[in-house]
Amino acid sequence: MIFGSVGDFAQTGADMRKGFWQRSVLGACVPLLAATAGQGQERAAGAAERHVRQERLWGTLQKLGEFGKNPEGGVSRVGFTEADLAGRAYVIGLMREAGLEVQVDAAGNIFGRRGGSENIPILLFGSHIDSVPHGGNFDGDVGSLGAIEVIRALNEQKVKTRHPLKVVIWTNEEGGRFYAGLFGSSAAAGIMPADVGERRDDAGEKLSDWLTRMGGDASRIKEAKITPGSVTGYVELHIEQGAVLEEANIPIGVVQGIVGIRDQTCTAVGFANHAGTTPMNRRKDALATASRAVLAVREEVRAEPGRQVGTVGWMKIEPGATNVIPGRVTFPVELRDLDAGKIERVAARILQRFEAIGKEENVQITCTSPELEAPALTAPAFRYAIHASASETGLKTLELPSGAGQDAQNVARFAPVGMIFVPSRGGISHSPLEYTSPEQVANGAEVLYRTILRLDAQLDAGGAAH
Ligand SMILES: [Zn+2]
Repeated sequence: MIFGSVGDFAQTGADMRKGFWQRSVLGACVPLLAATAGQGQERAAGAAERHVRQERLWGTLQKLGEFGKNPEGGVSRVGFTEADLAGRAYVIGLMREAGLEVQVDAAGNIFGRRGGSENIPILLFGSHIDSVPHGGNFDGDVGSLGAIEVIRALNEQKVKTRHPLKVVIWTNEEGGRFYAGLFGSSAAAGIMPADVGERRDDAGEKLSDWLTRMGGDASRIKEAKITPGSVTGYVELHIEQGAVLEEANIPIGVVQGIVGIRDQTCTAVGFANHAGTTPMNRRKDALATASRAVLAVREEVRAEPGRQVGTVGWMKIEPGATNVIPGRVTFPVELRDLDAGKIERVAARILQRFEAIGKEENVQITCTSPELEAPALTAPAFRYAIHASASETGLKTLELPSGAGQDAQNVARFAPVGMIFVPSRGGISHSPLEYTSPEQVANGAEVLYRTILRLDAQLDAGGAAH
């Protein structure tokens, strides 16, 4: 392992321009795409040649599931634990077997590099292998092992890509320990707090100590930042974690983007008084008011078409006694959608409703200023490449948003991204019941294989399709 920043990510604009001119002259790589596309056209739908091997990929998924395995099924391979370390060692071994040159950066992100024929920015693809406590065997694992299977398939097909390729396993995506989700990709995006290494868990263990064990270095976390321009694009294969694909009976989801999240905390302040002696018309009941507010959130979110969602996930009732009228209730309002404008529009309507309800109930509802996480949209050229790759494999596609957070949302800060979803049985995830069939997993990996080749042929070629 080599610690510190990875050389390719420091590529300069001058290198890229040089690459551009080389690309304009070299037509040698274009036939690669033509050959791939031609196969799809000549063969009947569903009968297209497969490059990834389903049993081999499934075998590695099963084996990875041994690390942190739970008796009730599934895994607890939480980031920064012994199980995570063991899983990482297994995956690094697979990368080396596939001929990848493995490096670990300061944030513990694992990169496996395969050389390209041109001096152009890399194509990056991968996922994460950490899980939530009592999670499943597919969230993150499918994309990580699918990416390594793509490398094995490229080796077998003796394909030389123009772009250098890198498989990435991001550190601690779920954030099960130290409240540090999307850890590795946050460092790559340069948005990690500098003192993150100081964080301790309840047992007093320090994040920085665990990071060292993983081959990282908290004191040099800034060096894990990836320079914009050094990555041509990022593609992640992932399970949907919802039921849209299964219900539509569609094997491949083309992700439109990762939804934005708007989160604020609201408080209804009434007056706590005796439950027996205060007549109904003299009450300032904060809980009755907050309850109406919760229903108003649902009504306003549903008031226009689309996939936007809104949730009130908890309530704190004070003083919280059977014989006292609640005087104060605190609750969050969380809204998510791909369209930031829509989120704001719905939020404004909700606040209007809160004001009206407050007046009627004689209780004041106030909300903190919102915390915003902007939506991260996937690149149109990447969505197109995924559609086309699925189509030539004989697989139907459906466009959908990712309602869950993903490392790709951080990567979108420094490179264009694309995401491929495969179905989750029953829409269940973060559970031992999480399941995607061997065939569905292999479908996703095959589409990833073809998408990488398609992007390799198209991107950085005469300024096309970025
Ligand atoms: Zn995941």
